Amino acid sequence: MAAETVKHFHERSISNPDFFWSEQAQLIHWEKHFEQVLDYSKPPFARWFVGGKTNLCYNAIDRHLKDRPDQNALIYISTETGVEKNYTFRELHAEVNRFAAVLKSLGVGKGDRVIIYMPMIPEAAFAMYACARIGAIHSVVFGGFASQSLATRIDDAKPKVMVTADAGMRGGKSVPYKHLVDEACSLAQMPPKNVLIINRGLDAGMPITAGRDVDYATASNAVGEAQVAVEWLESSDPSYILYTSGTTGKPKGVQRDTGGYAVALAASMKHIYCGNAGEAMFTTSDIGWVVGHSYIIYAPLLAGMATILYEGLPIRPDAGIWWKIVEQHKVSVMFSSPTAVRVLKKQDPKYLSQYNLKSLRYLFLAGEPLDEPTAKWISDSLGVPVVDNYWQTETGWPILSAMLGVENTPRKYGSPSFPVYGFNVALFDESTGLEVEADQKGVLGIVPPLPPGCLSTVWGDDARFVSTYFSLLKDRKVYSSFDWGIRDHDGYYFILGRTDDVINVAGHRLGTREIEEAISGHANIAEVAVVGIEDKLKGQVPVAFAVPKNASLLVDAAAHRAFEKEVMDTVDKILGAIARPARVYFVTLLPKTRSGKLLRRSIQALAEGRDPGDLTTLDDATSLQQIRAALEQDLR
Ligand code: AMP
Repeated sequence: MAAETVKHFHERSISNPDFFWSEQAQLIHWEKHFEQVLDYSKPPFARWFVGGKTNLCYNAIDRHLKDRPDQNALIYISTETGVEKNYTFRELHAEVNRFAAVLKSLGVGKGDRVIIYMPMIPEAAFAMYACARIGAIHSVVFGGFASQSLATRIDDAKPKVMVTADAGMRGGKSVPYKHLVDEACSLAQMPPKNVLIINRGLDAGMPITAGRDVDYATASNAVGEAQVAVEWLESSDPSYILYTSGTTGKPKGVQRDTGGYAVALAASMKHIYCGNAGEAMFTTSDIGWVVGHSYIIYAPLLAGMATILYEGLPIRPDAGIWWKIVEQHKVSVMFSSPTAVRVLKKQDPKYLSQYNLKSLRYLFLAGEPLDEPTAKWISDSLGVPVVDNYWQTETGWPILSAMLGVENTPRKYGSPSFPVYGFNVALFDESTGLEVEADQKGVLGIVPPLPPGCLSTVWGDDARFVSTYFSLLKDRKVYSSFDWGIRDHDGYYFILGRTDDVINVAGHRLGTREIEEAISGHANIAEVAVVGIEDKLKGQVPVAFAVPKNASLLVDAAAHRAFEKEVMDTVDKILGAIARPARVYFVTLLPKTRSGKLLRRSIQALAEGRDPGDLTTLDDATSLQQIRAALEQDLR
């Protein structure tokens, strides 16, 4: 029989999803088989594998104890502390059981939330698997977020327990974690009952709150070699919440199910990532992001592969460190981001040729547009296919990608190839609601039901799920990804950027509203506009134009600089350094329409040296002149 084409594979998934997905569902263990593949009786809410019972931790770890107990499951490498440690499936199973027992001893059970605010250390992974094991819902918050952001997430998720470490390390410097958790707990309205601390011995002065704080080493000694039974969950029971930015200041909790997610990830390892049991996968992301959840924590283990957890920078001790890891652990599948590759591209190319990379079959890149020079450089240097993936926190796995496990289709630079099976993708004209022709720009939409693995709702807010994601078209519920796209005559998609006020900094999503709200937290700021501008390394960086309440303070350049730093520090404090604007310019007026709407797109165009576009609705032309003047002063 001739091999199936990607086109046919995709068509099959859309025309007969029940058959298609029940086939894929065989890739995981079901303690109780499902009765119905899809329940779509309450659109746009889709429930996959209804009546089925399974568990993510069991599928990732326990299932392999029979065939590969002594094979590596988790390979931990820290170039920050010099620690390297491998855990076989058997050892990982023991660690996760211990962690689960500790969580249980703190009263955590099925459906309880646990916020994990951790550096990239094995205990962070143990904590996630342990939650999955006992049916608790984890919510991992990226370590770069500040206490205020953490407090917002605490109040939304209402965790029973938080898991943290004394500190992380970045570039050889210690970064406090526990300290931020303390601050967040004092800011939150409903702080957790307990804070579980992994003490790495990096912060000697770490304060302890008696009665609330629990030392993990002590607690895990107390539970000993505990065995904790797997909690079999209904397929649509939530596995985790992951917060992501949108156009409002309030982050959305993306809620993921259990069974659909397990099937989607297992299938993606076969059809997209082409990873085989017994091999190693190296995903360079952080567990705080969706790529980390899916392709560091869950998917490689679901496929019987070892996963590599790397704490460190890509260029320390030198720019060869990733390739050294590939050689040492015979990595077959690697997953990274365009920004990281651009960082490496600036280094001496000798680092790439120093190591034996024969084991490597594919490099996947995702999170932001992959520009042609970067794609070309890395694929020429490695000599393996470089596959661009397009997806979102909401979908949990790729929407657009080549599917080399199905068919070896040629890749085109700048394109993440085709809609992935299960995703009924189309490009729409927002005003007519019609699909656009080939080579025409449209908004990327997904005709529901969303496939397994995608968000099932927004945590605690079903109405927000519907209004945020399904209001692209007036008379039809179509999921919007908020991206512009174009499809060429060969069916290849190209992503052209966001349709909303969300920017993408080094693959991470930031809402301009969020940053504006943080800046407004400074006592001397009356108003502010934040836009994303093009950056050679990070894709985009935020830049702010702020109106001070008292401009007379800005007497000279030094006062300007000092005030700019104060504003940046305010952002660091409220959101974290990840959201810090690259520049803050001061003006007395912002460009707005007569109805008072900020003309962010015109500001962005000016900041990028482009034409500001249609200005017929502009209220006061001097506002744009001020933006120009501020930018020009910078050039001098
Ligand atoms: P996040 O949920 O933070 O991963 O951000 C998702 C957004 O990142 C998407 O909506 C796109 O705007 C952008 N994005 C992700 N992957 C790609 C890609 N391969 N090419 C272009 N844009 C991408």
